[in-house]
Amino acid sequence: MDAYVIDGRAFAAKLKSDVAKQVAFLKEKHDLTPGLAVVLVGEDPASQVYVRNKKISVKDAGMNSYAHQLEPDVSEAELLSLVNKLNDDPMVHGILVQLPLPGHINKAAVINAVSPQKDVDGFHVINAGLLATGGQGMVPCTPLGCLMLLQDRLGDMSGLHAVIIGRSNLVGKPLAQLLLKENCTVTIAHSRTRDLPSVVRRGDIVVAAVGVAELVKGDWIKPAATVIDVGINRISNDDGTTRLVGDVEFTQAARHAAAITPVPGGVGPMTIAVLLKNTISAACRQAGVDEPVI
Ligand code: NAD
Repeated sequence: MDAYVIDGRAFAAKLKSDVAKQVAFLKEKHDLTPGLAVVLVGEDPASQVYVRNKKISVKDAGMNSYAHQLEPDVSEAELLSLVNKLNDDPMVHGILVQLPLPGHINKAAVINAVSPQKDVDGFHVINAGLLATGGQGMVPCTPLGCLMLLQDRLGDMSGLHAVIIGRSNLVGKPLAQLLLKENCTVTIAHSRTRDLPSVVRRGDIVVAAVGVAELVKGDWIKPAATVIDVGINRISNDDGTTRLVGDVEFTQAARHAAAITPVPGGVGPMTIAVLLKNTISAACRQAGVDEPVI
């Protein structure tokens, strides 16, 4: 069997274009321009690339972008003071503090200092609690992007067994909540799981969010399963160059699965597109206007 390859790039491009239309509508009808503030601490090269891409996407969508670059040795108090200023700024509807933060800064303190209404990353403990209890909060971008790809592919997921590998607050746990809401039977596997292959073999849906290159072997995949590969791993080629691979052995898994996301070009592009969508939701909720349906 050759799996259908889920085109996350095309899906994200359509989502971004819908967001741009929503922004144009909000400007015209409500004089509301959604604004996203991105805070980067230090000079981590990967974070710089992520932040640059986010800024470009925010501007392309017609939103306001506010960038704050802080020195690597900035104190936690200074960072918290900036977050508080952004919380009070009516032009800023979404705040994103790029992770990872330097070791001297308490990550949880910073995440939970962001106003929950402006927490477009969905990491605040209140938003995590709302997600777990069925309330309406901000949902983390990567898991929401995974959910959208699954909904598009499978429609009703009721009763399907979803195996999520990885239990991080960023991906695994929030995705488990989202799939429970879809009436899936959810298993979360992790680094201490015994006999991972037989756990994965039970999944009608398999989501790998681990960060170990090609951990999930092709013959672990149940025939006709849907596979979402969140992992991004850089590995070396024989000639000294490098390439990106996911957490799933793509070519082998595609022989068993009904559908699979590639790396790159699967989940990755969805994250920024969902960030824009979350910023629209945050702006509409703060302004008390309905989210435009495009
Ligand atoms: P994390 O390090 O916080 O969590 C990894 C999880 O994998 C842990 O829960 C751990 O228990 C589990 N794990 C580790 N080794 C394992 C093993 N051998 N068997 C089973 N489980 C194991 O990572 P994260 O932040 O959740 O990210 C996971 C991956 O997803 C990384 O490659 C990251 O780069 C990628 N990621 C991609 C996007 C995107 O936009 N596409 C966004 C976030 C994360």
